[in-house]
Order: sequence, then C-alpha cells, then structure tokens
Amino acid sequence: VSPTVSTHVVACHNVLGGVIDSFDNLIEYSPEWFRRFGVQVKHSTEVTAVDAGRRFVTMVSLANGEEETIDYDNLVIATGSIPKVPPIPGITRHDGSLIERVFTLRTIEDALGIARAIDSANHCLIIGAGLIGLETAEALRSRMGSAIGQVSLVDTEPHVLATMVDPDMARVLEDSVASHGVDFLPSTTVTQIQSEVQCHVKCRSARGEESSHSADLIVVAVGCNPDIALGKMAGCLIGPTGGIVVDGCCRTSISGVYAAGDCTEYRDFVTGHPLLVGLGSVAVRQGRVAGINAVGGVEQVAEGLLNSRTTRLFGLEVAAVGPTQCELQERGINPIVGKVTSSTRPAYFPGGKRITVKLLVHPDDARLIGAQVVGDEGVHLRADVLATAILSSMKVGRFLQLETCYAPSVAPTLDCVTLAAEAAYTRWTRDRRDKERTSD
Ligand SMILES: Cc1cc2nc3c(=O)[nH]c(=O)nc-3n(C[C@H](O)[C@H](O)[C@H](O)COP(=O)(O)OP(=O)(O)OC[C@H]3O[C@@H](n4cnc5c(N)ncnc54)[C@H](O)[C@@H]3O)c2cc1C
Repeated sequence: VSPTVSTHVVACHNVLGGVIDSFDNLIEYSPEWFRRFGVQVKHSTEVTAVDAGRRFVTMVSLANGEEETIDYDNLVIATGSIPKVPPIPGITRHDGSLIERVFTLRTIEDALGIARAIDSANHCLIIGAGLIGLETAEALRSRMGSAIGQVSLVDTEPHVLATMVDPDMARVLEDSVASHGVDFLPSTTVTQIQSEVQCHVKCRSARGEESSHSADLIVVAVGCNPDIALGKMAGCLIGPTGGIVVDGCCRTSISGVYAAGDCTEYRDFVTGHPLLVGLGSVAVRQGRVAGINAVGGVEQVAEGLLNSRTTRLFGLEVAAVGPTQCELQERGINPIVGKVTSSTRPAYFPGGKRITVKLLVHPDDARLIGAQVVGDEGVHLRADVLATAILSSMKVGRFLQLETCYAPSVAPTLDCVTLAAEAAYTRWTRDRRDKERTSD
C-alpha cells in the first residue's frame, strides 16, 4: 500500500527530533533500485484478495482504481501491523478516524502529520511509555527546545519501557527522562479526550486520583496489532497472540504461503510461548528466509525469538535480550539475578562511563535466559554478546570463563558482563547448595 519502498519507519522520530534532515533521506531503496535486481515494485497498490487454493491475488491501484490479478507459485505475506488505539471516549470521530491533534506513529505520513502539528504545539502528551513513546518524547523535547512548553508521558504501567526492562533498570532511565523536562505519569490511564481549541485530557491513576491536562498534540504509542487481513483470506492459522503462525522456515499453515515480519507470531526462544514479532531486526531476518524459501531455497531463522532490542534515549543507551525478570516470573520461572554497576574502563583510567548489567539465569540448570544493559556507552554490543550466549543455551559458569579483551583505554580486565555473570553464578551455586542441604 505504501507509496514509498523500504522506508525506515524506525527512524521517523529521528527526523522529528532533527537528527536526520528530511523524511526523503529515510527512503533507502527506490523502485528503480529493486528493478535492477529483477524485482518489480508496485507501490500505491493494495492487494484486496488472496485465493490460496487457485494461487492468485487481486490488487487495486490506489492511483487509478484499476484492478489486476496475478498468479503465483508461492506467496509471501508481509503486511506488518496497525497501531492500536485504546478505547478512550472522544479519541475518534464517528467514522473511527482519530480526532484532530491526535496521531499514531507508524508511517512516514503519520510522522509528517506530527511534524506539522509540533510547530504550533506548546504542550504534547504521549500515551504509552514504551520504546516508540519514549523516542517520540525525546524527539518532541529536542524539537521544541528544552525550555519551551511541556512534554508529558502517560502509561498504565508503573514504569517506563515495561516490556523491555524491569523496574529496577527503568529507574535510571526515568531520572534521565525527568532531567530532560519530560513529565512521566506512571500507573495512569487516560479516561477521556475532548477536542476544542486544544485537547482536554482526563486521567485516572491506579490509586483513583483524577487529573486534567490540556494538549495541542497527542501521540498514541500503545503498541500494534498484526495486520492479518490477507493471512486470514488465505486461510492461514492465526495464533493466540493474533499473528499469523509461522515456523522457522516462515511457512504458514497453508501450502505455498509464507509470512514474515510484524504480521507473524513465532515462539519465544527461552519460554517457548507464542510471541508477536514486533522488531525490524526480526522482520528483516524472516523476510530473507521467507524470500529464499519461496523460490526453492532452504533457510531457517533461529529456533525462537531472542527479542534483542536497543535504543538510545536522553543520552542513555538501553538494550535487552530475552524475557524480563517480571515476564519470566509470570511464566513460573523465578530466575537467579546477577546485577552490577561498573565502568566501561578501569577505574583509574579517564573517560570510563557508568554501565549497569542485569543477567537472568535459569534456576534449574544455570542457563543464561535474559539480559538488560543500561549505560552511557557500549551497551548494545554487550547485549549482543549476551544474546550469543543465550542462543547457545550457555550456562553462566561457562560464560564466566569468557576471555574478554582488555586494554585500559578501551576496556577493564573484567568486563561488567563478566562481573554480572560472577554475581549470578555465586548466587546460583549458593542456592543449589542450600537446596541440596534441605533435601538431605
Ligand atoms: C517509530 C518506529 C520506530 C521503530 N524502531 C525500531 C527499531 O529501532 N528497531 C527495530 O528493530 N524495530 C523498530 N521498529 C519496528 C519496525 O519498524 C517493524 O518491526 C518493521 O517495520 C516490520 O516490518 P514489516 O515489513 O513486517 O512491516 P511494515 O514495515 O509495517 O511494512 C508492511 C507494509 O505492508 C503494506 N501493506 C499492508 N497491507 C497491504 C495490502 N493489503 N496490500 C499492499 N500492501 C500492504 C503496508 O503499507 C506497509 O508498507 C520501529 C517502528 C516504529 C513505528
């Protein structure tokens, strides 16, 4: 459907915040680029029907309304996801569209709408303090200038980035959010929006306290639902999370139909539970596998999703791999935790930056099953090292033996990931000794 190709929606907030000059710079691959590789791109065209039995799709040009059918041998569905809009009274018009001054952020068109609205905005409210909500808050703050107006974040969760980090790791981030002039209202639900010259927003906290806010611009960032309309038409099995169920080869339940990206559901590597794909990193890997297999190749993604995710917010880098401690506990796994705060260089060497690593270890077999890292620098590569260990089902004792690089100007003798592993290993061996003693 999109009029642009391979647009980097992931970087929309970077244009809003002024880090990247123009939305045009986000379009990395043009239809011409694809044509050179023998791929025909039909942009501004909507696929309206799939007949998986007779293997053809029907499409309509959004430019001139012309309809066309195309036969296929194999089909890849990569329709992405649609932003959720919470059922807040007043948030939509009668036809279901969002009222004036209220936006979601998924496409470049959404970002353009927000960019136009910022110029006359003095008070911006963001509903949802996840990755996109926080990145938008930072972009708005930077665009408005730190001394002007107000940016507020509201979330029903008690802390920011609740699907990425645990409350203890979120705290340092929340300090940074506050110091950059963003107001965070935790455990708070927006209960009503009224549109007049400004939007009037009513909120209720978990303790029942009511508050009112006015906003010139509201961005709704509460997650996405997979766009499964075509998948359903093809008869694909839809999983409990609402995504198209795929296997490691990106095959759906229907012969000749593959699916990839945000419209799909795969399993969590650690818990085995179904999980919606919601990351560009995974979408790209699945897309490659689905594409190769659809033309007769044999490729697979990993046995499950590690959900390796990272961002940089208000000067702090954050990264996480695998489920959080809270998620694991909800699944009945009470992980052993190893957590340290140290420096990215030896204490005596100038320029070292603070970094906190939290490791989660399976209580039964000491496997590494989750990691969170927050710091000023060097965060995502450490998380990637931990992702390697998790993917290899490495035990924390083995990880501890990892010989990491050392040079005072670059890295300390024992890196913070090793120190966190040591803390977790010590705790795990002590717990096991205690269990053995009680069972004797
Ligand atoms: C602001 C923002 C920041 C993000 N940052 C990150 C990040 O830093 N790291 C990360 O890993 N992920 C990030 N993501 C998530 C990432 O963008 C998505 O996971 C990724 O784009 C999913 O790719 P996809 O191809 O599955 O879906 P999409 O990129 O959504 O593409 C789906 C395409 O299908 C088209 N389509 C749908 N239905 C039809 C139809 N019937 N006919 C024709 N075309 C159709 C849509 O128009 C769309 O162009 C971010 C997302 C947003 C919104």
